Amino acid sequence: MEMNENSIGLDVALKRQGYEVRQHGSDTNEIRVCCMFCQQLGHGQDFRFRLGINLKTGQAHCFRCHWKTRDIYRLIEKQMGRRVRQPDSVYEAKKTEDAQVVLPEGFELFFSIDNQEGAIRTKALDYLHSRGVTDEQIERHHIGFCSVGRYAWRIVFPIYHRDKLFTFIGRDFTGRQEPKFLNRKGAKPLWTSEEHGQGMPLDSTVILYEGIFKALAGERCRFFTLGPVIHAATLGSQITDLQLAQLCPQVVKEIVLFPDPDRPGLNGFLKAGRALMAKHYSSGVSVVWPLPQREADEMSGDEVRRCIEGRHPFSVASWAMASCIIPE
Ligand SMILES: [Zn+2]
Repeated sequence: MEMNENSIGLDVALKRQGYEVRQHGSDTNEIRVCCMFCQQLGHGQDFRFRLGINLKTGQAHCFRCHWKTRDIYRLIEKQMGRRVRQPDSVYEAKKTEDAQVVLPEGFELFFSIDNQEGAIRTKALDYLHSRGVTDEQIERHHIGFCSVGRYAWRIVFPIYHRDKLFTFIGRDFTGRQEPKFLNRKGAKPLWTSEEHGQGMPLDSTVILYEGIFKALAGERCRFFTLGPVIHAATLGSQITDLQLAQLCPQVVKEIVLFPDPDRPGLNGFLKAGRALMAKHYSSGVSVVWPLPQREADEMSGDEVRRCIEGRHPFSVASWAMASCIIPE
């Protein structure tokens, strides 16, 4: 465990893990979050903030599934690998509450009724098709575009988490704007192929890529041997705390790393593999095999499927040998 100076308040810790924190009416010692155990205990997902947490004692109890603990602090500390303390002020939870996320100015869906033509729309759609993205995927993932505002001339990918818009990213489609990817500020969750970020189905296999176009390429493949498969993108070569928390070991059966073939990609996913191993003591972490020479969206569907089905258990040593990268 790290030193005390590096500790974070319980409310902040929960937010980093993707939970919205609410204060309980008049009792300033109690906060509420949507219960993370209801689903595992067979009650369906909780949207009603049923898990009550006493900040003073650390006791927590769900009013529906009756999951309880005497020390929520220890549980979250274990998950995050750092010291978690009582919030500085009982009002901290309220003060730091994030404003509601809205889609950027000028956002349009490709297939809404009043949006069937237009030169900018056509150019944006041509770009997506040239990257292999199908109309079905565009609709399913609510992918849109902007022709005005800060995100003008960008494809916009909304990212949902537990049914709420969490963030979005914009990808230039003209070939003339820097940066190519414009990310909204704030916490970075996984982009996943689950519609509306409903959370991973039980016993799912998650294929982890660096970018959205690669995850979309994976989604276009059919797998016969894997059970429920989720394709997810870290939106950068590093995995974030929030993303680690999303890959909950009680739900995810296996995580398959599908790194980009360049050096930052291989390095970043090597670190991600280690972090996942530390967290996923019981579930498997593996890596596509052989390590790809090209990015997933430049491979044929058969090639993508074959290297996923040929995956090996993750180990730092075999990764280092295959990629010629010396672990730091
Ligand atoms: Zn519950």
